[in-house]
Amino acid sequence: MYEETTIAAIATPPGEGGIGIIRISGMNAVDVADALFHAKKIHSFHEAEPYRMYFGHVEKDGRKVDEGLAVYMKAPHSYTGEDVIEIQIHGSMEALRETLELTLESGAVPASRGEFTKRAFLNGRLDLSQAEAVMDIIEAKGSAALSQAESHLSGALSRFVKEGRDELTDLITKLEVTIDYPEEDLEDLTNEEIGRGLSDIEKSLSALLKRSEEGRIIKDGLRTAIVGRPNAGKSSLLNALLQEDRAIVTDIPGTTRDTIEESIKIGGVPLVLMDTAGLRETDNKVERIGIERAKKSMEQADLILAVIDGSCPLEKEDRELLSSLKGRKAMVILNKYDLPQEADEEEIRNLTGSVPIVSISARYGSGMDELEEALRRLTEHQDRDAGRELFLTNLRHVDLVKKALEAVHRAQESLRNSMPADCITVDLVEAWNRMGEITGETVDNELINQIFERFCVGK
Ligand code: GDP
Repeated sequence: MYEETTIAAIATPPGEGGIGIIRISGMNAVDVADALFHAKKIHSFHEAEPYRMYFGHVEKDGRKVDEGLAVYMKAPHSYTGEDVIEIQIHGSMEALRETLELTLESGAVPASRGEFTKRAFLNGRLDLSQAEAVMDIIEAKGSAALSQAESHLSGALSRFVKEGRDELTDLITKLEVTIDYPEEDLEDLTNEEIGRGLSDIEKSLSALLKRSEEGRIIKDGLRTAIVGRPNAGKSSLLNALLQEDRAIVTDIPGTTRDTIEESIKIGGVPLVLMDTAGLRETDNKVERIGIERAKKSMEQADLILAVIDGSCPLEKEDRELLSSLKGRKAMVILNKYDLPQEADEEEIRNLTGSVPIVSISARYGSGMDELEEALRRLTEHQDRDAGRELFLTNLRHVDLVKKALEAVHRAQESLRNSMPADCITVDLVEAWNRMGEITGETVDNELINQIFERFCVGK
């Protein structure tokens, strides 16, 4: 058992709702709950059948605060691995606050951020990558992010790490043998085996790293730049997209960036719109998203939506923009389809290669279904793969896999240069340690605290 304290927190988000939950975890959870929750059928949670809901009420100084349900989850078969009691009452901030106060008066201490999950980790219920996946589930911005986080929680990354570390242990053991019994034959044979083993590990780590960019997109969405000449209809397109999207998620503070971003959900991977502030300053067109800023957005974007005014012949700037789309994930949006069309579609096709072209009228909202369908097609493979393959979606993991891979490369180099076995072992142990940091097997307390501080209270 990790701690002697019993912690309590409101586990549901602040605000009014149908139901609010108070969570209590620790050695004295039962006594704390007994002091405030009066179940109709039992006198004490010591008599309770675990995992069964009991109806009752929360009482303070002889006054009923609210009625509700409570459930006892007995250690070690609970989220934290400790005795846990969850009390569900109405989602009233006042009732929840009073109930939380009662838990504190009965000896519980307020849970810090992520402390329930931290206890689950420290009690061996989850490894570190799974604990981080819990946070990713809570923060998921789209179905692809959710299914990847769920797969991490189910242990997909943990299994990858375990297999990699087992292979490394195997290689380290073989190398130890050559150190202890340095007969030449044995060494030759082992070197070949070690070389093969290293190359297998190298391949699986590199393949995972190669997909880390996709992992970022799955987790955070596609950074999308809307670009085009002044007056092409970029702001109108933005507004049309925002209006079309019923499930729009607005003003999400970027977790890794300090900006406020707007995102639209089309399919399972959200499109995070870059630089929309520039597009919104509608009264001062000259000031709108300057050329340099537009170029920068394009460089950083995962997806470019190039807006062309279809009612005018193509201009030099249009041609430059269109040529820069070749080979990128992009879409040409021929706007103002309600007016006679002057832009040469054939030329656009020649300039852009296989980039899809969609005609719309942003002002009248026509062609928006086709546009959404085309956008969905651009992201559907990410959505699909997120449920099937393993991706690194967390920068901490990406960094550790990179370091493990570097160590494996050094070991390969030493092997090629016929360095002594213990030189190779040093790097393999380094790789083994780095991989272990992903699941938290080799990790220090400070890092653990940093990770859990990112969580919300009550989780
Ligand atoms: P931006 O400078 O690229 O952001 O362009 P705006 O969205 O501000 O549009 C420039 C002008 O074109 C405005 O007067 C819009 O009303 C007009 N406009 C935008 N989309 C359409 C469209 O689909 N059809 C027509 N006829 N006019 C449009």
